[in-house]
Amino acid sequence: MRVFTASLATETNTFAPLYVDRSAFESAFYCPPGTHPDTPTLCSAPIIAARRRAASEGYELVEGTATWAEPAGLVSRDGYESLRDEILGQLRAALPVDIVLLGLHGAMVAQGYDDCEGDLIAKVRALAGPDCVIGAELDMHCHLSAEMVEGADIIVAFKEFPHTDFLARAEDLLELCLRTARGEVKPVSAVFDCRGLAAFMTSREPGRGFVDRIKAVEGRDGILSISVAHGFQAADVADVGSKVLVIADGDAAKAAALAKRLGLEILGWGQGASPRHYKPAEGIAAAIELAEPGKPVVLADRWDNPGGGVAGDSSVMVEALLRHPEIPAAIGALWDPVAVSLCRAAGVGAEIALRFAGKAAPSSGRPIDAVVQVIGTTADLLIPFEQSWVSLGPAAAIRIGLLDIVLASARAQTFSPPVFTDLGIDLAAKTLVVVKSSNHFHAAFAPIAASVLYLDSGGPYPPDASKIPYTKVKRPFSPLDPNPWL
Ligand SMILES: [Zn+2]
Repeated sequence: MRVFTASLATETNTFAPLYVDRSAFESAFYCPPGTHPDTPTLCSAPIIAARRRAASEGYELVEGTATWAEPAGLVSRDGYESLRDEILGQLRAALPVDIVLLGLHGAMVAQGYDDCEGDLIAKVRALAGPDCVIGAELDMHCHLSAEMVEGADIIVAFKEFPHTDFLARAEDLLELCLRTARGEVKPVSAVFDCRGLAAFMTSREPGRGFVDRIKAVEGRDGILSISVAHGFQAADVADVGSKVLVIADGDAAKAAALAKRLGLEILGWGQGASPRHYKPAEGIAAAIELAEPGKPVVLADRWDNPGGGVAGDSSVMVEALLRHPEIPAAIGALWDPVAVSLCRAAGVGAEIALRFAGKAAPSSGRPIDAVVQVIGTTADLLIPFEQSWVSLGPAAAIRIGLLDIVLASARAQTFSPPVFTDLGIDLAAKTLVVVKSSNHFHAAFAPIAASVLYLDSGGPYPPDASKIPYTKVKRPFSPLDPNPWL
């Protein structure tokens, strides 16, 4: 048996003024064939899953390129086509193959391509032929177009948010593709389109219990796989929205019935699946009440999360914390490569007049001017996220009174405490810790936190879908229209 695997992924916020070309992939994560490290990344986990089982399963593995760009705005046509064609050329050279395993995201948009993954899967199918088993792993924040589902035999999305299960789901995908190629199962897919947005977190109820229940259903009574595509609302594409994908063994009606039942259950939660979002001042006030000695309250600046395709340099929460000089606090990581280079040149211990943050867009707030003390620097802030490592590039920590601030050169979200601790910041000595992340921080920060709160600091990510200027979404679509299922 011959297996080909490759990965091409990013998440495109079509409203973000941060344009992406091939160089953004090459500088973020770019591994030509055979050079992928032994640890997976969020979207390249199928490569590692396939590598680990090649010997025991007795297949020959051909690795193509694996690449990822940090979520941002529209991808250039040249950038997408050159990476796509690079992988297709590698596949062509590897033919014939029995299985193609793709590590994708599912919300990549390029100039002229609203559905990059649907396009890539269709071209893979055209090359590999109708008998090849094509499997793709997607991020749950995907658009799950009909082209993706029809082009692939098996699609498996992450189940967990935070995405703690990217390797486990890649292993599920590989297992199902192997069983299909051996003729042990005959996967048929059914999608229930929620006609709206129905996202939830699995770090809290009702999402936690729901995912535990669907995992218990998988592998029983002919149900091979269940994926909930939450959707990615910051994209003006026809296929935006939440969908449930069920793959059954040969029984399309069973798959469709279960997908609909699960989709209606999620829709029934309404806003009840979403945590409270605090405005900056009320969030700080609430957190002070909840902090415990040695345990800070962690506040997520959700809508300035670089993982959602925005800059991650909003100064709104820095200004809010500076209005409370009596509170020991930390905030990070803010994207500001210019300020980082100035801090690193000045050196640890230096006191400098620095302008930082609030530069990428009007919704990032105002730049902050302050005399700061440089308390830590590094040539590469490398932090863990589950089985992967994420680089924030050269970074610096600065101090203004009791407030410590981490500045980074690369846009990446604040996945884990080493963003702070690797630069010498003692989180146990802080009352409040503000992180630039939507929910991926939760897995690593919850154990050190007295409590976790979510902030609405005003953007720049568009949190209210009813105010997003969509032009392409298929109607009806809630919250723009009443949901036809409810
Ligand atoms: Zn995601």
